[in-house]
Amino acid sequence: MKIFHNTHHAQHAGRQEMFRGRLVDCHEVPDRLRYVLDELQRRPVGQLLTPDAAADVDAATARVHAPDYLAFLARAWDDWVALDPANAAVDALPSVWPLASKHGFRTDVPPLNFAARLGQFAFDSGTPLMAGSWAAARGGAACALAAAQAVLGGERFAMALTRPPGHHAGPNYMGGYCFINNAAVAAQALRDGGLQRVAVLDVDYHHGNGTQTIFYERNDVFTASIQGDPRTEYPFFLGHADERGAEAGEGFNLNLPLPRGTGFEVWWAALQTAMQAVSDFAPQALVVPLGLDTFEGDPISGFKLRSADYLQVGRAIAQLGLPTVLTLEGGYAAADLGVNTVNVLEGLGR
Ligand SMILES: [Zn+2]
Repeated sequence: MKIFHNTHHAQHAGRQEMFRGRLVDCHEVPDRLRYVLDELQRRPVGQLLTPDAAADVDAATARVHAPDYLAFLARAWDDWVALDPANAAVDALPSVWPLASKHGFRTDVPPLNFAARLGQFAFDSGTPLMAGSWAAARGGAACALAAAQAVLGGERFAMALTRPPGHHAGPNYMGGYCFINNAAVAAQALRDGGLQRVAVLDVDYHHGNGTQTIFYERNDVFTASIQGDPRTEYPFFLGHADERGAEAGEGFNLNLPLPRGTGFEVWWAALQTAMQAVSDFAPQALVVPLGLDTFEGDPISGFKLRSADYLQVGRAIAQLGLPTVLTLEGGYAAADLGVNTVNVLEGLGR
């Protein structure tokens, strides 16, 4: 398999995030990827590559994100420092949002103040934005595009090995440590490459709200997600079982929320349900937003999967028999992330 590694990832290294009412050290750190690369040195299950300087990455990203959001991201750091030169030493975190309500805050008048614009394009204060965030996120999108192109070129498996993750990023907002939705970029690139039906199977602990929203009204991309029940688990406001898609996309979204504390046996049964739904859709390719925060040792999640279980997860994905792009998503027990990620890749079988 081809593994496209984002060499720009470490340019995004947030210092602190707002977590349960206080600023704490970031959970989403460059060390995460270092542990995966170290494990790939020990177990070279694929060919480690860097994407070509893809001139088409911006076009691919613009297929799933709004132009004003992408323009905001590209300029965000400069605008943050322009607000106050002292900001150069501080990560940007949003602190005010235009909460939607009838006759309430307006979003039709673009604010000029950067702090307001940051809130306009974000849904939480856990996602610090710094000088290198855009370069890192864009580098990840290039990996996702390269992985999709590899699969279109006949590769059975390809991976975007990148951070920051992507599946919480929506059409016009960042959040959940995510800026560009790499899985959505890959799925759309597969469609644009000529495939008629693409499925997304999100196995991260947290609901893939951004991916769901991007494809919610479409019947050409089926989205399935197994996640912690949003009534108690982040991102809280999306990911319920009754969200089945809308308009032409009605019936093309599947959510399988599970209670905090769920172990492998019950999770595995949900995976079988999701895989059956994927098979019924008869896609020509699959995208797997691969979050490893289902691991029992994850510091911010609540499932109980063990390292050896991820070998079975890889085997199950392979049994779908589909050309598959994987994108690295969550997984915050950094020292275990290498073994757990490479276990999935080893389970895929090539
Ligand atoms: Zn997650």
